[in-house]
Amino acid sequence: MAASSLFSAAVRRLEGKVAIITGGASGIGECTARIFTRHGAKVVIADIQDDLAKSVCNDIGPESASFVHCDVTKEGDVKNVVDTTVSKFGKLDIMFNNAGIGGVAKPDILDNDISEFEQVLRVNVAGVFLGTKHAARVMKPVRRGSIINTASICSVTGGVAPHAYTSSKHGVLGLTRNAAVELGQYGIRVNCVSPYLVPTPLAKNFFKMDDEECLNMYKNLKGANLEPVDVAASALFLASDESKYVSGHSLIIDGGFTITNCGFSIFGQDEMN
Ligand code: NAD
Repeated sequence: MAASSLFSAAVRRLEGKVAIITGGASGIGECTARIFTRHGAKVVIADIQDDLAKSVCNDIGPESASFVHCDVTKEGDVKNVVDTTVSKFGKLDIMFNNAGIGGVAKPDILDNDISEFEQVLRVNVAGVFLGTKHAARVMKPVRRGSIINTASICSVTGGVAPHAYTSSKHGVLGLTRNAAVELGQYGIRVNCVSPYLVPTPLAKNFFKMDDEECLNMYKNLKGANLEPVDVAASALFLASDESKYVSGHSLIIDGGFTITNCGFSIFGQDEMN
């Protein structure tokens, strides 16, 4: 589906739904907030970049998007954003645990500092754990809900990012599966999106690359570029009733990168182009 049709939303796929998006001030989260609201959802952006988040909400329209300051590593903040959402809108249908950091790019494990390692796990895994826990707290009594986590291709492959980030995204995949098993009995679905490189502030700062370099670093699929809207479209599917029997799934958005072995292939680059 073209980005323009997702934005114009002739069919509103989230009409009447209420969503929280952590990390919604920038990149994938911001794009998802715009698409969810165009599809009829009320969205609460939970982020630590207050000014940026408020300007995104103003741009979307205050009737559809609002902001609650939330550091996903702090349980009080996560509890507060969930409770504020439920008291304002009466329910929570969709929890998109998307906030994340790249950490410090140090490929040599000997240079890796334990405090830097722990900080990446705190945001990327403990943040998802807290979002899942507090979403489940309000979803269990009503026996429905969709929890979506942002993992990465680094949840299923090694060597693409430093140790802390790769560890954290494997953790997100494990937590997604475990939570899906536990919460299925309450009608709550838990899935993750696992993108390849998207040229957002996180990726560009982390790899110290511009948009073009980011898009071409490891890519397999030619003729298309991965953009935030592609990840948002996957989150939209997992949030909507179209995926009502999908749970415990990792939707990998990588143009075939993770099933490609660049070291051994019978397909030459010419044949692939
Ligand atoms: P981004 O930097 O544009 O957005 C991340 C957002 O998370 C920012 O708004 C930031 O303020 C927020 N955030 C950071 N720490 C937070 C905290 N403690 N509490 C609340 N909010 C916090 O980056 P992005 O690329 O859009 O990243 C979104 C998610 O996508 C992350 O989980 C990231 O790991 C994942 N991801 C990104 C890529 C990529 O190439 N960009 C690929 C795969 C997965």
